Parts: sequence; C-alpha cells; structure tokens
Amino acid sequence: MTGGTDIRGRIESLREQIRYHNRRYYIEDAPEVPDAEYDALYGELESLEQAHPELVTPDSPTRRVGDEPLEEFEEVRHPVPMLSLANARRLEDLREWDARVRRLLGEGEEPRYVTELKIDGLAVSLRYEGGRFVRGATRGNGTVGEDVTANLRTVRAIPERLWDDPPEVIEARGEVYIPLEDFERLNRRLEEEDRKPFANPRNLAAGSIRQLDPRVTAGRPLTVYLYGAGEGYGNFESHSGALAALKGYGLRVNPHAVHEDIESVIEECRRRTEERGSFGYQIDGVVVKVDSRAQQERLGTVQKAPRWAIAYKFEPLAGRTKLEEVIVNVGRTGALTPQALLSPVNIGGVTISRATLHNEDYVKEKGVLVGDTVVVERAGDVIPQVVRPVPEERDGNEYEFQMPSECPVCGEPVSRPEGEAITRCVNARCPALALEHVIHWSTRSAMDVEGLGEKLATRLFDLGLIRDAADIYGIEADQLVPLEGFAHKSAENLVNAIAKSKEQPFPRVLYALGIRHVGTVTAGLIAERFGGQDLLGGVPEEDLAEIDGIGPVVARAVVEYFALEDNRWLVERLMEVGLDFQRTGTAEAQGPLAGKRVVVTGTLSRPRSYFVEELEAAGGTFTSSVSKNTDYVLAGEAAGSKLEKAESLGVPVLDERGFEELLGR
Ligand code: NAD
Repeated sequence: MTGGTDIRGRIESLREQIRYHNRRYYIEDAPEVPDAEYDALYGELESLEQAHPELVTPDSPTRRVGDEPLEEFEEVRHPVPMLSLANARRLEDLREWDARVRRLLGEGEEPRYVTELKIDGLAVSLRYEGGRFVRGATRGNGTVGEDVTANLRTVRAIPERLWDDPPEVIEARGEVYIPLEDFERLNRRLEEEDRKPFANPRNLAAGSIRQLDPRVTAGRPLTVYLYGAGEGYGNFESHSGALAALKGYGLRVNPHAVHEDIESVIEECRRRTEERGSFGYQIDGVVVKVDSRAQQERLGTVQKAPRWAIAYKFEPLAGRTKLEEVIVNVGRTGALTPQALLSPVNIGGVTISRATLHNEDYVKEKGVLVGDTVVVERAGDVIPQVVRPVPEERDGNEYEFQMPSECPVCGEPVSRPEGEAITRCVNARCPALALEHVIHWSTRSAMDVEGLGEKLATRLFDLGLIRDAADIYGIEADQLVPLEGFAHKSAENLVNAIAKSKEQPFPRVLYALGIRHVGTVTAGLIAERFGGQDLLGGVPEEDLAEIDGIGPVVARAVVEYFALEDNRWLVERLMEVGLDFQRTGTAEAQGPLAGKRVVVTGTLSRPRSYFVEELEAAGGTFTSSVSKNTDYVLAGEAAGSKLEKAESLGVPVLDERGFEELLGR
C-alpha cells in the first residue's frame, strides 16, 4: 500500500467498516466484533489520518461521537456536549499526556489529577431542576441525545429528589450499568428460555435503557454511577469538589482518588489493572481527569474529546490452555449446559479452570474439540469464554463433544425440541429440578401455598423432609416446630396452607406441575378436554394439538412429561393425596352435541360465529383443523381443503340443514 489511491481506498474501507460497527454498537446495542477488534480498525484509521491530514473529512468517524439518536425517542439537545475520551493504551502514554497538559498550562502550574474507574455501560445525563429529576438522556451523537426519562425513572439508584440544597439546575452525568452477577443470572434465564443471551453487560444496559417500554426497563437490574456534570459544573472549583457535592445530593458517585502527580496516577492504574476482575461490574479502564476546573477550561477540547481527561484502557484478558474435558451441568430449570474443564491458566491474576460452552450448537459453531488447545478470554473481564480452538496444535487425539441423551443427574432421557437450542431434563423429580419445582408449585398463580417460598423450600430439602412436591402433603406440624424460626403457630399455619391448596381446581394443578410451555391459559385449555387419568393413559400428541390454542410444541411437551416414569409417579401420588385431577370439560356440558368436536368451514348463510355459538351451546367444541378425531365438519360453499381432508379421513360432513337436525330442530 504505497500509492495515494491505495491509502485513500484503505481509509474509505476503514471508515465504512467502522460506521457499520458503530451502528451495531451504538444504535442496535448488538456489536458483532469484540471491542479490541474494533479498536484496532479505529487505531489504524486514526494513524492513517494523522499521516495524511489532507484526507481527513469532517464526517470521518474519528471526528464524531457515538451515533445519531434513534427516531423513536424525543430528541434532547445537550447544553454542554457529551464527549468521548482520548485513549491511552500504555502507561507510558499517560506520561506523555501529563507532559502535554503541563506544556499547555505553562510554567509553574502543577496539575492535580483525579482517577475514576471506567465503567463499561451507557452514558446518561440526569437533569435536576430545583432538586427534582426532570429529564434523563443518552449521549447520542454528543450534541443531541435521546429522551429516556421514563426508563431512567425505573432505576432505583436514581433519586427523584436531591438533598442538601443543590444548584437550581444540575445535570449529573454518569454510567448506567448492570452488575455482573445480575447480568449472568439474566443471561442464564434467557438461555434457558431459548432466547438469545446478551453479548455483555454493556449491551444489556444500553438495550434496557434504549427501548420503548419502561416496564421492560423496570425488570432489568440497572444501577448507576455518576462521574461528572454538564450544566451546573461551573458551580464547582474542582472536579473532586463536584463529585463530593453530587454525593452530598444523594447521588451514587464513582469510586475515585485524587493524585498529586502522574506517577501516583500510574501506580493507581497498575493497581486497578490487577484488581480489574474484582469489582462485580465490568470496567474497561481508568479515567484520569485534571482536577482544577480553571485548568480544565484553559485546556479545552479537541475534536470529540476534552484535553483535560484521558482513558487508560486495559488490554483484553486472554490466554491459551488445553480443553481437557467437557462436563454437562443441569440447571434448576432442567437446562443441560456443557462446561469446559480447562488446564488451569492464569488470566489477569485469576486462575481459570472452567468456562461455559452455552449449548450444543455453540460448541459446533466454534469448532472446538475435546483435547484442543483453545483461546480463552475473560469476556466482561470476569466470565470466561472459550473463543476459538487453535487447530495447528492438534495431534489427532481430539474428539467431538456429544450431548448426552440421558440426564447426567437422574438418568432419564433428555429432550431437545426441534428449533430450540437447549437440551433439557424434563423429569420433575430430578434432584436438579425438584427444588425449583416445589417453589413453582407453591407460587400464587399455581397452588398458592402461603409461606412456602424459596428459603423454606430449600431448608426442607436440605433437611431431607421433602424430595418433591407430593412430599409437602405429608409434612406434619411436629416436624417443623423444632426448626429454628418455627413456633407452633407458624408450623400450623404452614400445614394448613398446604392442606388448603388441595382445594385448587385442576387447571391450577396442571399448571403447577410445571410442564414446559404450559402456562395458566394453556393448562385451562387442556383441563377442559382431558383429566389426569386421560393424561396418564397417554393422550396422543395430535389430540392435544387439536385443542384450539395449543400448538405442536406444547402438545409435545405434555406428551414428553407424561411419558416419564418419575413424573407419572409424582402425579399418581398427588392424586392419592386428594388433589383435583378431574377435567373441567365443556364435554360435561349437556346438550345434543356434548363432547363432539366440530370443524366449521366454507361460506355459510350466517357468520361463522353464529354456528360456533350454537355448537357450544349444544355442548360441542369448535376446532380449527380436521383430524381423525373430528366428529363432524360443517361445510358451506367453497369449503376447500378442510372438506377434502374430512372426506379422505371419512369424517361425516354436514350442511346447514344437517347441523340444525343434529341440534334437534
Ligand atoms: P469511550 O468508551 O472510550 O469513552 C467515553 C465514555 O466513557 C463516556 O461516554 C462514558 O460513557 C464512559 N465513562 C465511563 N466511566 C467514565 C468516567 N469515570 N468518566 C468519564 N467517562 C466515563 O468512548 P466511546 O466513544 O463511548 O466509545 C468507544 C468505545 O466503544 C471503545 O471501547 C470501543 O471499543 C467501543 N465500541 C465498540 C464497537 C464494537 O463494534 N465492538 C463499536 C463502537 C464502539
């Protein structure tokens, strides 16, 4: 690449790639490449532009902050722009930056510095007027951001009112983020629900704030750290003074320290690098700021970042090691998760010997074999990930990972429904699932056993008093009284609450069984048609799928559930205890069509709803598709494929008159 056109071409290509990744990152909150890869492209563009200033254009990504705000939100114009930060990759860069700061300030000025953790989340501005939170915004393109007030109001760490006599207008700035533990918990849940997990806590935080339904935001474990101010910053003489004041107003302020010289800053960066994995939230560096506000003003800003601040960025943490073995864990909802057992390797001061492999497809996509040398990264600095294999190091002894066909905990067959990524154990009595099941069993929308929550259920399991949901009906007050925290009264209350749950109707019981995909509505639909004995007897998948509102996925899950010996045993014992397993059925309804399944199709003399109502009043059930279990098809003009199917299956076909006759008219 020597000629001018080549350089121009390379610059254009870099800009295009960076714009693309900016869009994925800032607009869609779904980056495709790790930050380090993005930073490499960005760094190359920056140095090419430095060497060829004549090729710099004002729309180059190096001149612009973030990306345009989303149209779905109201625009917020920032009175003081929200800028980006210059980066230091090496500690030496900090010394150079310090020298430049001193040169610009001139002789005799000794800048003091403040260091803060650089939290990797989403930058927000919180505007308070008269001490009240009036507006929250994202950074957007630095000049115009998005109004996300409603979403930010759901973040508990953001107070509605400030204490301590704040200035009339104060715009606190900081980072909204999600603690790692909450991030992992949420991602695990998403994975178990077959939804796509988030790439890292930053994307989850950003995605949670930049979405349109505040109820979704409210369900996300977001919190905030403030590290500066926009409007109102002028009220303070120093940055550290501003932070102390923000803290006094009741805002959550970033951990920070004040330093007399750059060597002390460097020492701090070294220490933070060592501790980087221990904060419980994702940090990607240390931000260094000139403390004096007067000095900050004199230094000013260039392009898209202030001259008075710099971000020292950590190297991504990665290492190589051997993948010794893959074991399979069973989670509390039955999800089987392959885990890599690694030869212990030290990455950034933490010894890593395990990493998640998420699921079967993930292992295949990565092309990782058991026995491979692999590259392991501490994504988000803490959660270890197997990034890729190193095929050059293979010696022929490596082999493919196979997902077991039986649950490693209980030995029952596992299930991986078509189109789903997760393999599961569906045995409600599997020790890995049983506790979770008892907790679900007791919830309000299921059997509503007051007082039997997660804590108590865990204790009862630990003490060996119960092993599954049926066991709770055998608990006696005398067994509970000796337990800490139990008096006679409370023991009796619990036993009574358990006994009372026996009165719950069958749809509740069916829902409480915790069959995958069977929610309260679905349970109600199934309970109308089939009782516990029918289900134990083996209702075919087609018959279930025929119920209006029940698709093939639910039908399969129900059949799989009742096919397992352990589940059947649980249901039988629940029946013995006296729980309601009687179908609620419309079939019990009286009438000439009681229990009959009828399909209505074609053009009739009245709206279809008329015939459906008549049918249901006569005790029949309307179904949408024809199968061998259909009793009649009521066909009007141009009935088409349903009529053909009825004829081929030998299902009696009625016209309107025949239908009226059946109703005895
Ligand atoms: P930046 O992250 O380097 O720095 C500015 C931001 O730092 C501020 O907006 C603020 O949100 C944050 N910050 C955290 N703690 C702070 C503190 N104590 N004081 C001040 N600011 C603090 O700059 P940027 O312009 O937001 O984005 C660049 C980053 O985004 C890079 O790390 C880059 O790798 C990443 N990125 C990645 C992709 C990708 O595709 N993977 C795409 C675009 C950007």
